[in-house]
Amino acid sequence: MIEEGRNLERYDRQLRIEGWNQENLTKARVVIAGVGATGCEVSKNLALMGVGKLVLVDNDVVELSNLSRQMLFLEDDIGRPKAIVAADRLKKMNPLINIEAYFEDVRNLDVTVFEEADVLISCLDNWPVRRWMNSLAIELNKPLVDLAMEGFYANLQVVIPKRTACLECHGEDLIPQEAQLAECTLRRRRPEDLVQDLKNAGIEISTKVAEKLFEHDIKTIYDLKYAQEGVLIKLDKKTLKVVKEIRERLRPKLPALQSVAAMISGLASTEIVKILHRDDLGELVKGLFVYDGLAGQFTVVELERNPECFVCGDFVEEELTITIKPSESILELKKRVAEIFRIPDPEILYREWRLPDDKKISETGIRENDTIYITTSRRFMPLQLRIQMIQG
Ligand SMILES: [Zn+2]
Repeated sequence: MIEEGRNLERYDRQLRIEGWNQENLTKARVVIAGVGATGCEVSKNLALMGVGKLVLVDNDVVELSNLSRQMLFLEDDIGRPKAIVAADRLKKMNPLINIEAYFEDVRNLDVTVFEEADVLISCLDNWPVRRWMNSLAIELNKPLVDLAMEGFYANLQVVIPKRTACLECHGEDLIPQEAQLAECTLRRRRPEDLVQDLKNAGIEISTKVAEKLFEHDIKTIYDLKYAQEGVLIKLDKKTLKVVKEIRERLRPKLPALQSVAAMISGLASTEIVKILHRDDLGELVKGLFVYDGLAGQFTVVELERNPECFVCGDFVEEELTITIKPSESILELKKRVAEIFRIPDPEILYREWRLPDDKKISETGIRENDTIYITTSRRFMPLQLRIQMIQG
């Protein structure tokens, strides 16, 4: 009883807000991917307000240059995993809540971590993983709050699956061309291409090293930057060392400012609280919310959900079929799939077998009405396609 009284006292001021229901927070489970500047701020806000379960995920360790913004970390924490340190600090700030921390690439976690969540928060600093989170949120039908910042600018988007635009609905306009092109692995790349791309970025490697990387499907600068741990551990020691050195040099060191992080994270946290109150506490931000700290301006870019979006569009729920000819090669089929579904890097699986580019359909054993699966870095679950065979 005394305990309960103390808990009520802790939240006294927010309990006075009209329409507030602390239980909506206490019972909630929120996953925060990325515990950098915005991740620290958002998790601190949610912890203080009493969100019952926070799940923190980050595969980085604390560095000195983080300390000007990532407010949960101190000098003594340098070298320690961010998610673990953050969990310790937050637990001290509010002992009433539970925290789960993962020192891991968010893409490697078991799906149950997300399935039990009420809201997913993306505080990530790169497009490939943000897009992956977006697709995950749509496929699991979970609200997603996505934040990003650079220098004096920051933006925020709340995605309610099937109700509002997702990150990909207007991806062609809103996702940098560079990120879109770099992901495309359909072009037949040669090790020499990687050597040249790196040279353009001011990094020299030998063709021999590039060949080694190709053996492990590391074919672009993007692959180098974002290859998952599972791929890296398969490299031999020498190649791994080269990859680590290249990564260090390629790592995007974007300008960032604590005040801007606090600003956008504060807004995002308020939206999260509203989502947890299920429309009882006012309306959610619509579209893309943009903050320009230099001009001192807020802009809301209206975004309609795109029914043809390849992630959240209506087709995703229908049974999809694709017509193929026995004489078509897998590479040709991949190109068509890429075009139809706007997926840059499709791989085709048939009976759990990844089909090689140079095989013809007739050599794969695929028949009318069989199902093939399309995997891509852009989707969480593979896309299922039923085969309609035409002769020729
Ligand atoms: Zn969409």
